[in-house]
Amino acid sequence: MNSVLVTGGAGFLGSHLCDRLIEQGREVICLDNFFTGSKRNIAHLIGHPRFELIRHDIVHPFYLEVSEIYNLACPASPVAYQYNPIKTIKTSSVGMVNVLGLAKRCRAKVLHASTSEVYGDPDVHPQVEEYWGNVNPLGPRSCYDEGKRIAESLCINYHQAHQVPIRIVRIFNTYGPRMDPNDGRVISNFINQALRGEPLTIYGDGQQTRSFCYVDDLIEGFLKMMDQDETTGPINLGNPIENSMLELAQAVLKSVNSGSELVYEPLPTDDPKQRCPDITKARKFLDWEPGVSLQEGLAKTVEYYRNLMQQESV
Ligand code: NAD
Ligand code: UDP
Ligand code: UDP
Repeated sequence: MNSVLVTGGAGFLGSHLCDRLIEQGREVICLDNFFTGSKRNIAHLIGHPRFELIRHDIVHPFYLEVSEIYNLACPASPVAYQYNPIKTIKTSSVGMVNVLGLAKRCRAKVLHASTSEVYGDPDVHPQVEEYWGNVNPLGPRSCYDEGKRIAESLCINYHQAHQVPIRIVRIFNTYGPRMDPNDGRVISNFINQALRGEPLTIYGDGQQTRSFCYVDDLIEGFLKMMDQDETTGPINLGNPIENSMLELAQAVLKSVNSGSELVYEPLPTDDPKQRCPDITKARKFLDWEPGVSLQEGLAKTVEYYRNLMQQESV
């Protein structure tokens, strides 16, 4: 009963988390429906005596014996979560109920991967956990934002009604190796465009901001959140250094050593204008803050995509 379940374990963040848990000597069950995840992300773990892979969709009930659950199952990139919006909502609602039902039965602790998107297009800046958000419930991002808001509400209600131990982290934009090169997120787009010598696509005027956290830092935050008993959260996890998309484009061009031009395309509907976490709580409760600079993180990510392109071209 000392097993850890990682739902969405074959995805970008989930696969890094599985690696860290295996390194720590844990028994890891990775459960994934492979909607946006890939076998490539976890291929190196297959055959490990403490690693088990289950293909399953959390929207359907499932029965396992575990002591901890990291609930990461949910497509994260706008392109992926808008592909089948109703399915995205079901994953964060019905799927979350199943995860919490399992936790209740096993008395397992649940860390839920929420998102900065619960703040919508924020009019409080930087975002603190007390801010309720500015979300369009009918817009194209709502299947994700509102789904994640329902999921947080389910967590807190299972905690209050059934004493399920919960931990909620609100993740801000995170990047690194194993991000799907075709998922449409800005860092994967920019790096792959630069590597192919294509123009970098700036949506809108490029003045909108995001704060980018390197994956290793984020996973450290997950582990610290799970291992403490002082707070259920929500706690923001992200990098408090904010960059405009134009600044990011320049940083990527430098990292790839590319002379690609910039082209401007329309800004997607409801695209938040600014996003930056206030991480006072993460510092206080978890003694956590990001340590990897954008330059360092981009270099590692560029190397990953370069290798991937070479493998795919042979
Ligand atoms: P990802 O798309 O790489 O990983 C999600 C994984 O969940 C995939 O392996 C996918 O196949 C799986 N999945 C999706 N629906 C499922 C279902 N119904 N049943 C079982 N598996 C399912 O995305 P990621 O970047 O690794 O994100 C992981 C989690 O972190 C998500 O919940 C996401 O919302 C959250 N998050 C990520 C970021 C980020 O910047 N990467 C930011 C905020 C929140
Ligand atoms: N559930 C699950 N695995 C378990 C326990 C429960 O998938 O190990 C599902 C179960 O099918 C139910 C949901 O989780 O639909 C919620 O469970 P809960 O016990 O909260 O609700 P109830 O069964 O009382 O409706
Ligand atoms: N973006 C961009 N070019 C791209 C992809 C995205 O300028 O090729 C912008 C997008 O409009 C948004 C920001 O980059 O303002 C971050 O987008 P992403 O999809 O990575 O994450 P999210 O919008 O969910 O924060």
